[in-house]
Amino acid sequence: MEKTEEIYYEDVHQTDFTAAVLSCVPGPASGTYRAVLNRTAFFPEQGGQNADRGTLGDARVLDVHIRDGIITHTIDRPLVPGESVRGSVDWERRFDFMQQHTGEHMFSGIACRLFHVNNVGFHLGETETQVDFDGALTAEDVSRIEEEVNRAVWRDIPVKCWFPPEDLLKTLKYRSKLDLTEGVRIVSIPGVDDCACCAPHADSTGQVGILKVLDRISYKGGVRLHLACGGRALRDYGGKQERGEKISKLLSVPQNGIDAAVERLLLKESELEGKISALTEKLLEEEASALPAPEVSPDALLFTEGADQNTMRRLVNRLMERYPGYSAVFSGGGPDGYRFILGSLRQDCMAAAAVLRKKGFRCGGESRLIQGGTRSDEAGIREAVASLPGA
Ligand SMILES: [Zn+2]
Repeated sequence: MEKTEEIYYEDVHQTDFTAAVLSCVPGPASGTYRAVLNRTAFFPEQGGQNADRGTLGDARVLDVHIRDGIITHTIDRPLVPGESVRGSVDWERRFDFMQQHTGEHMFSGIACRLFHVNNVGFHLGETETQVDFDGALTAEDVSRIEEEVNRAVWRDIPVKCWFPPEDLLKTLKYRSKLDLTEGVRIVSIPGVDDCACCAPHADSTGQVGILKVLDRISYKGGVRLHLACGGRALRDYGGKQERGEKISKLLSVPQNGIDAAVERLLLKESELEGKISALTEKLLEEEASALPAPEVSPDALLFTEGADQNTMRRLVNRLMERYPGYSAVFSGGGPDGYRFILGSLRQDCMAAAAVLRKKGFRCGGESRLIQGGTRSDEAGIREAVASLPGA
């Protein structure tokens, strides 16, 4: 079979076309078919980029692949070999991919020139563009590249995609992941980047609209970035604007002051937590002093709502000094049950833990102190503690 004529290389804007159906066979998934045409405007999946979508006649194009120059369309209903068919590529989606892909070239080219890092991984999906570089880039480095990319967008530099003859190719300097010498397509953005690439790109840098880096993480000794260009960047900005307005209204501060307002709020929250914790401890100490004397009742059990772990531990330690049996603080009592700390200087708390676990308590620790949780209510807890060895 002859190689498929690739309309997207002649004209990236041509979305509607007529072609002859060369073959159509059932696909591996039920209800799918695989059609080969003599020519197509559908860009197949390759180079880290998803394939175009659209229609062939009444059939929806679900995916497109290329192998040995032959392009196969996976579709949801059969075509008749020998007949001609009208194809239509989803332009919105194609253009979105063109914006992201061209922006990525600009970013990688400038990153390579300024910081000598190479793009070693690229994925352009339906909603995210991910680029991996083989060297570290700081937040300042990323901002500087981003700034240069956007300045190049404003200059609206023409993008040239071409297949240089072999002898000329040898003299060109360009970024490439593969050592090809034949049929290499160069995407050239003068002063910004030259790169070997097969995908559809914007006609000029102005069409990229804007480039914004959304996220930067360390990855395999280098860095992984998420980029958004054009329409995706605008939608991302829209979402952030909406969330910023919402937070601004909730905190009654202007949008440019929301970060400082959240910091103040967190500080206040931690101050309040400290105060609540001190008050709870004071309250618990008063309750502890009202407990029956050790000679009357050797165990000391206290119940509270919101004591933190440290408060509970301090109190149990003090009670253990006075009471010869088990001393414990149970905090909670809501649908999640109680958290507790239980200790004793004379009894073996690990043996107590074994008994409590049989009664549905979750707990563990060491011979002097155990901690855990239970869904039992106060009466159930008192009953369980009364049944402990030595109690
Ligand atoms: Zn490209």
